[in-house]
This record gives sequence, C-alpha cells and structure tokens, in this order.
Amino acid sequence: MRYEGRMFRPPSEAYSLILQATVGCSHNHCTYCDMYRDKAFRVRDLHESLQDLEGAGQRYGDVQKLFVADGDALVMPTEHWLALLHRAFAVLNGLQRASCYATAKNLLEKTPEELRALSEAGLKLLYLGPESGDPTTLKRIAKGGTFEEHVEAAQKAHAAGMQISVITLLGAGGEDRTVEHAEGTAKLITAMDPEFLAALTLTVVPGTPIATLQERGKFVLPEIMSLLQELRTIVDQSRPTDAVFRTNHASNYLPLSGRLLHDRERILTVLDAALSGQIELRPEWFRGL
Ligand code: SF4
Repeated sequence: MRYEGRMFRPPSEAYSLILQATVGCSHNHCTYCDMYRDKAFRVRDLHESLQDLEGAGQRYGDVQKLFVADGDALVMPTEHWLALLHRAFAVLNGLQRASCYATAKNLLEKTPEELRALSEAGLKLLYLGPESGDPTTLKRIAKGGTFEEHVEAAQKAHAAGMQISVITLLGAGGEDRTVEHAEGTAKLITAMDPEFLAALTLTVVPGTPIATLQERGKFVLPEIMSLLQELRTIVDQSRPTDAVFRTNHASNYLPLSGRLLHDRERILTVLDAALSGQIELRPEWFRGL
C-alpha cells in the first residue's frame, strides 16, 4: 500500500487494512483539527487505488476489515467507490466490511439509491464526527453541518443499511458553553441513534484556528473535572437504542467502555468516583492526539 503524509484511523480500525483512496479532507475547516492541514484534498487516481488493493490481496492472508482513508472519504464519487469495493471484495480473502470517515454533508449529497448501492457493495460503517450537538458550538468550530443536518445524515445512513459510529469532542464548547455543549451533544446522540459512540477530548494543537483563539483569550479549554462532567452528562442524558460506548482514544483522561443500555449506571459510578478524586486519571504525558 502507498500512503501520502500522516495517516489517521479510528482506534477500532487498528487491525484493518487502510486504503488511502482520497488524500486529505474536502472540508478541512474544523477549527480544532490539524490532521490534514498540510494536504490539498484530492481523490486519488482510481487505477492507483485498485493497484494497491491488488497488491494487498497478494501480500496479506486474511483481511477482514478495510478502512478507506483519508478524512471524509465518503465524498468520493459513487462510481469510484463501487469500483473500489467490488475489487476489494474480489481480491481480499475474508473481507467482511469496509468503513470510512464521513461528514453530514457527504451523506446529504448522496441519494438514497447511491447509499443503498454502497451499503450493498460492503460499505457498512461510517464514522461521523459532529463533535457537539450545541448549535453555537457547531458554528464556532466550523463543523460544516447543523444539528438537524447530522440527524438527517444519520437517518439516511441507517435507511441505506449502514451502521454509524458517532464521535463527540469533550471541551469543544470551551469553558463558556460546557453545559450547553454536553446537553446538546446528549440530545444529538439520542436523535442520531448510533450503533457506536466515542468521546474524545479536545487537545488544542498549535497552528490551528482554535489555538489562535486561545492565544487571544477567546477560547478557554474547560478544566479536567469540567471535561469529565461533560462526559457524565452525555452518558447520563443520551438515549441511543443500544450503542457501544468507548472513550479508549488516546486523548482521554479516563478510558471507559460498555453498552449504554446495560452499563449506564456502572459507567456513571466510575465517572462519579473519578469526579470525586477516587480514581487516578491518565497522566497528561500519557495522552495523545
Ligand atoms: S471534517 Fe474531520 S478531517 Fe475534516 S477538518 Fe473536520 S475534523 Fe478534520
């Protein structure tokens, strides 16, 4: 496989084959994100991507999962996607499903028929990161999608037979919107009804627009205990039907996991213990982006 620049994938795709079929992110405006700032967005040449798949098919034995990068790979034209998916399932032994990052806009720009075709061809899981359900925060972080658009996008994915993994970002609202951010996010999770739910913690990366705002005193990252309180509110107030919940991303202070439907009380008990100082948090030096 050939890769350009830094590569990113969700923690749950650690054992997946990664195909870089797009380079960068077609949105590339979220104020906190530095993942693809050094890459001009483009769809990679189809022939090159097909060659990478052929090569992987010859080199690797069993490949069960394929993650298609980079930042919002769903944006690729549907014909391009279908060619890649058909070849992937033809050449990768044991392949069960493909997944990718997607934005609400990517989903809204595809027709229900296109999404159904992609799902039937094996694109079964989309990672969607609204980060917040608070309309003010969504605007401030330049997410490029509203609360309502994220709900509509989730409904379209589900109607096409795809699962969604929703990513939220603790601290995204800053100190002044910490309550609204947490409560709005819980509402958005309920409305999007994901199968998987992850919480990450905002790290202000030098060179990003949010870092500039922080330097000017216009953004203040909440204290650690406020971030944990945000997480508590999200766990307590969101009501997805049956979401697998994880905070195993390296950016978090407290790794947690469970099914919200069955494990909510246990997770809240752990969070309360952490909030009252009875549980040691991941040290700052151990955290990553
Ligand atoms: S959509 Fe995702 S990859 Fe693109 S800028 Fe926003 S957070 Fe970064």
